[in-house]
Amino acid sequence: MAIPGDGWVITLDGPAGSGKSTTARLTAAALGFVYLDTGALYRALTVLALEAGVMPADHEALGSLAISSELNVRAGEDGQRMWAGDRDVTDRLRTPEVDRHVSAVSAVPEVREAMLSVQRGQRRAPGLVAEGRDLGSVVFPDAHLKIYLIADLDVRAERRARERRASGHVTDPATEKQALQTRDETDSTREVAPLRQPDGAVVVDTTSQTIEGPVARVVSLFSELKSR
Ligand code: C5P
Repeated sequence: MAIPGDGWVITLDGPAGSGKSTTARLTAAALGFVYLDTGALYRALTVLALEAGVMPADHEALGSLAISSELNVRAGEDGQRMWAGDRDVTDRLRTPEVDRHVSAVSAVPEVREAMLSVQRGQRRAPGLVAEGRDLGSVVFPDAHLKIYLIADLDVRAERRARERRASGHVTDPATEKQALQTRDETDSTREVAPLRQPDGAVVVDTTSQTIEGPVARVVSLFSELKSR
């Protein structure tokens, strides 16, 4: 396949805890591509909405906040950093409070509309690996390779609990399972851009795999596609 002038696009979608972030980050590093974690955008907006006391039911106010907040993704030494105007909000994105509210904020059509240009603006040569919920279906329907990651709920809950404990939070798999189930339900049933397997996506089940497995699979699928 000829190298596209505006760069290759690989999308990874799937539910929370399915291994998207790590797989996408390591795949991008292996290929020398830019990595985009789109969940961080919705999380950053949720941080701002909580600070400003804007409720998810107030679609207009959230849409305005999404436009005026100047959300900006930048590369940092230890991965992607999220900026809102001149403020780095990265360290505030993964709290249980943000977890509880992010799906409601993300379901607002005005929010999704405002996020489209920010996400598409990250595309550049030689390529982009973008992960989230609607990357292959809505944001980059023309992506060269679409992956849909899945894993058993219990395994996802254990992974999430481990990650959280590593960053100093007190939690357990049962608490995380409940939170994941609630978020999956909201993300899959919303009207605009619900979580679903995009047409043409390759399903990768990460339940019993270490992280090297999915990364090697995506890199190999991409090499195959490039050489066609
Ligand atoms: O991927 P992560 O768990 O950080 O995403 C947080 C939330 O952001 C998701 O539960 C979902 O509500 C929202 N999201 C979305 N669309 C995306 C990425 C994330 O709605 N492309």
